[in-house]
Amino acid sequence: MDTLTALKCKNLADNIANEINLSPALYDAFSQIDRSKFCNIKAHAFSLDPQRILANQWISSPLTVAKMTMALELDGVDSVLEIGCGSGYQAAILSQIVRRVFSIERIEKLANQAKECIKNLKISNIHIKFDDGNGGWKKYAPYERILLSAATEKIDERLFIQLENNGILVAPIKRGNKQNITKFIKNEIGQIEEIILDECEFVPLLKGTTI
Ligand code: SAH
Repeated sequence: MDTLTALKCKNLADNIANEINLSPALYDAFSQIDRSKFCNIKAHAFSLDPQRILANQWISSPLTVAKMTMALELDGVDSVLEIGCGSGYQAAILSQIVRRVFSIERIEKLANQAKECIKNLKISNIHIKFDDGNGGWKKYAPYERILLSAATEKIDERLFIQLENNGILVAPIKRGNKQNITKFIKNEIGQIEEIILDECEFVPLLKGTTI
């Protein structure tokens, strides 16, 4: 990364840290990942706004990425599954904090573009799959954490099954015409507790796949 880009990334991390409480590991992740590599309009890459990417989808606002990541409580966590890879930016942030990231995308060209981008950045601990994420990714389950990057009214039971006991699943949950970041904590005997956090705005979680 050149010096100017490094400064812009650090500035982005500072701007986020001014708005919400960031862990040192997450602050470093925002400083180390060049968001412009994931955005179509490079000039706006370091603002706190969401942006359009391919196929009419969105890369979330860095502030939302930060809130979702903080809600996951990633200290000491090994594996995270993300549903809704999109540009791959959220997965790239996660990759700086945990050992293994698995991310699923239902739009084939987005999955391919994200894979390419991650490869160019030489990040080797992210595994991306083109599929409908509602069924999770059985092969590597169970996961310590699961993150939905698309909004739904109800979490598919298969995702809770693939979440470890004492694990956390974070998702944007639709209630009426509002969405809230929602944290589901699975206790040691598999019961789920739900905590409603900030309002948010995500594209809908859909079923099936498309090219
Ligand atoms: N995390 C992304 C933002 C994602 S926007 C980023 O950092 O850029 C939400 C993404 O979820 C979109 O790309 C959309 O295609 C995808 N999506 C929606 N429903 C899905 C499903 N059932 N399985 C996998 N991906 C899904």
